[in-house]
Amino acid sequence: MATVPQQSQLRFQNCIGGEWRGASSGETFTTHNPARFDEAVAEYPKGSREDARRAFEAAAQAQDGWRRVPAPRRGEFLYRAAEWLAQHADQVAAEMTREEGKTFKEAKGETQRAVNVFRYFAGEGARLAGETVPSEREQVFCFTMRKPRGVVSLITPWNFPVAIPAWKLAPALICGNAAVIKPASLAPSCAVRLVEALHESGLPPGVVNLVTGPGATVGQEMVANEQVRAVSFTGSCGVGDHIYACAARRKIPAQLEMGGKNPTIVCADADLDYAAATVVNATFFSTGQKCTATSRCIVERPVYQRFRDLLVAKTKALKVGDGMDPSVDMGPCVDESQMKTVLGYIDIGRKEGFPVLCGGGRLTEGDYARGYFVAPTIFDQVEAGSRLAQEEIFGPVLALLPADNFDEALRLANAVRFGLSASLLTRDVSKVFRYIHEIEAGLITVNLPSAGVEYQLPFGGVKDSSTGFREQGSVAIDFYSELCTVYLNY
Ligand code: NAD
Repeated sequence: MATVPQQSQLRFQNCIGGEWRGASSGETFTTHNPARFDEAVAEYPKGSREDARRAFEAAAQAQDGWRRVPAPRRGEFLYRAAEWLAQHADQVAAEMTREEGKTFKEAKGETQRAVNVFRYFAGEGARLAGETVPSEREQVFCFTMRKPRGVVSLITPWNFPVAIPAWKLAPALICGNAAVIKPASLAPSCAVRLVEALHESGLPPGVVNLVTGPGATVGQEMVANEQVRAVSFTGSCGVGDHIYACAARRKIPAQLEMGGKNPTIVCADADLDYAAATVVNATFFSTGQKCTATSRCIVERPVYQRFRDLLVAKTKALKVGDGMDPSVDMGPCVDESQMKTVLGYIDIGRKEGFPVLCGGGRLTEGDYARGYFVAPTIFDQVEAGSRLAQEEIFGPVLALLPADNFDEALRLANAVRFGLSASLLTRDVSKVFRYIHEIEAGLITVNLPSAGVEYQLPFGGVKDSSTGFREQGSVAIDFYSELCTVYLNY
């Protein structure tokens, strides 16, 4: 097991106006370790709409003062928070593994990414540039400048519980917005730790507020509250659609990053051993619970069988178990409901008539019986129009699809409503460029897994996966600032 000591049950509070407090009702909820579901991990305030309202009042009070802090000085708070996070990285990662289930190695990598995100946007404070543009008129000087939008609402999912809160909080703050964040109830600990890092940095009270609690109450207020000037959401399409409709009624911008059904295309000329390892990584790491995970693998027919055999052998070699065990490659599903969804899709795949090449069910022997473990599963000869090939599963399940040629592979890759990420494995440069131009995805990889992004580049999907505002990289500030144009007659 990793050297990080297992902790007893933790107790967290909400952060409102710079104070740590419980829910006004006194109610709480508890998270459990998906690898050992009899182990309680942490207790949180079960916030209400009233608690969320108070958080927005605190943010609104802090907004004006924060807006006036020069942006490079705002960055200093982020640098200090990044250092706090770096110093506590082992603890934050271990809490993530216990609560969300991904391996400690992955959790540690994700925590480092959050550190990098904070450092990167701290630097952006000195680069919030506009542009000067020549006027048609004499003695008129024209330029653009960025202003904060005001109080922003940040709603995050459980699957990247530190990276996603970090990549929303950091650009929101550097642009001069006060924020209220609501993490997903399955794994809120990392978001609390991030807010703790910001609190320890000396951030003025109320600039960042955190409320844990149900989507149906706290979540509703996150969009309905009249203080909210913009809402950034990452999560499922169903909730995203609802938020989009609410935001449209209020005419506030909504950044939505949602589901995926990401393809990897394996061409006949690819290095098949490398391709199989890449697909295993993209499909099964983090238990397939990445929005950018590969869930469809489209393979040119001449190498279909050879590739399939390599892929199945590598998949069978994966070790499934408690993510704190360093020899484990893949942890459990995040909770019972997610596991049932995954098992439901395995049933659907069987009923649709596709052969199971490996896995195909829950793991229940020995220690597995205490967790939500599903064996890495591959379906063979899947048809493009089937539910298995069309719907987001969000678990360790892969559909293998044969394609007659590269044109058909591209057509199949694009034949879904989503467009988050896509990967191509080939040594043919003309195929690479055709794919880059024709694939319908916001995140395009070549000879790399479909998942695995870096903080300094834009991130986001096309089609039903996204509303198009990019996160991360320098363009992330577009969502969190208003671009104003000044005409000045001197
Ligand atoms: P989810 O939609 O169930 O929940 C996301 C957040 O929304 C949670 O904080 C939840 O409490 C909140 N919420 C729920 N109902 C709400 C409401 N009515 N109003 C406001 N907020 C509400 O998603 P999840 O299960 O936490 O995460 C998994 C999903 O997230 C998958 O579909 C995955 O593809 C997607 N995801 C997308 C990306 C991306 O960048 N595209 C990244 C990670 C995850």
